Amino acid sequence: MPFQTEIGTQISEAVKWLQQGQIVGIPTETVYGLAGNGLDTQAVSRIFEAKNRPFFDPLILHVADLTSVYNCVREFPEEAKKLALAFWPGPLTLVLPKSDQVPDLVTAGSSAVAMRIPQHPMALALLRELSYPLAAPSANPFTYVSPTTAQHVYDQLQGKIPYILDGGNATIGLESTIVSFADGPARVLRLGGISLEALWNVLPKLQVDIQFAPKGTESPGQLDHHYAPRCALIPLDSLTENLDAQANLLLFSQKSEDPTGSHIHYLSPQGDLNEAAAALFSLLRSFDDRQLDRVYFEWAPQEGLGRAINDRLSRAQKK
Ligand code: AMP
Ligand code: MG
Repeated sequence: MPFQTEIGTQISEAVKWLQQGQIVGIPTETVYGLAGNGLDTQAVSRIFEAKNRPFFDPLILHVADLTSVYNCVREFPEEAKKLALAFWPGPLTLVLPKSDQVPDLVTAGSSAVAMRIPQHPMALALLRELSYPLAAPSANPFTYVSPTTAQHVYDQLQGKIPYILDGGNATIGLESTIVSFADGPARVLRLGGISLEALWNVLPKLQVDIQFAPKGTESPGQLDHHYAPRCALIPLDSLTENLDAQANLLLFSQKSEDPTGSHIHYLSPQGDLNEAAAALFSLLRSFDDRQLDRVYFEWAPQEGLGRAINDRLSRAQKK
C-alpha cells in the first residue's frame, strides 16, 4: 500500500503507526533507522521488503534499557556487561545468545541477536513508549549509503512508509560498532561509532575479525558492496598518472597546497575525525545528487574513527 510519507517530530505519531504493525523512519546518533516491532514477524518482514534487504542479513534490536536487553537474551557474559556499562546508551551493538521471544527472522536463523541501546534522545523517548524492541536497520535501500538526515530517508523511501521522525542530523554519522559474544572469544565484527582504541581500553584482549583494506588492496570475499554511492570512488594513492585540474577530490583535511574551487570537498577542513565521520555519508550522497561520475579520495588517518571511515570508503569504492 503506498503512503503519503510525512516527516515530523511527533513521537506519538510514530507510536501510532508502530502499534499498527507499520514501519517508520527514526533518528539515532549513528544513522537513521527503518524501525518496526522486533517481535512481530509481519512488521519485520515489512522492513526487509521496504529496504529490498535479503533475509540472510540479520537486524539489530534497539531498546531503551538493560531490563529490555535481558528480555531478548539468554546470556549476558561479564565482558559484554563491561562494554555495555562503558558505552550504552551509544553507538555499540552487542551480539548475544538470543532468548526464545526473538523471532528467527530478526537474526536470520542465528541463535544470537544483535542488541543496542541508542543514545539519541528522540530514539530513547520513542523506545520508552513501547513494550517491545525496535528492529531498525539503516533506512536506505540495501547496499546504498546510509541516511544521516530525515530528508535522506524521504528521498529513498517516500511512499513506502507512513512517517519519518525527524531528529536532526545524525551526530556520529557512521553505523554502530558491532562486538560479538555469540561463540568463542569476543570479537569485533564491524567498525563503527565506537573506536577500537576505546574498546581496547575496556577489554584489552578484544579480537578484531575485519580485514582492513585502507590502501586499496584487494581482499576478495572480505569486502561487500555496502555503503556504495553510484559515482565511482577512486583512491588518490592508487593513481599512476596526473589528475585533470578540474577532477573532483574528496580530501580528509585542508592543506595549504590544496587546489581551490567547488570540485574540492573536505571531510573535515580541521582534520577532526568526529566531524569527518559525521560528514561522510552526506558528502557521498551529494556526489550522486550532482551526478558526478567519479571522485578521487584521500584516506583518513588509520586511527580512532578514521578506521571506520576508511572501512566505509574502502567498501564504497567497490563496484
Ligand atoms: P545495520 O545494517 O546497521 O542494521 O546492521 C546490521 C548488521 O549487524 C548485519 O548486517 C550484521 O553484520 C550485524 N548483525 C545483526 N544481527 C546479527 C547477528 N545476530 N549476528 C551477527 N551479526 C549480526
Ligand atoms: Mg545498513
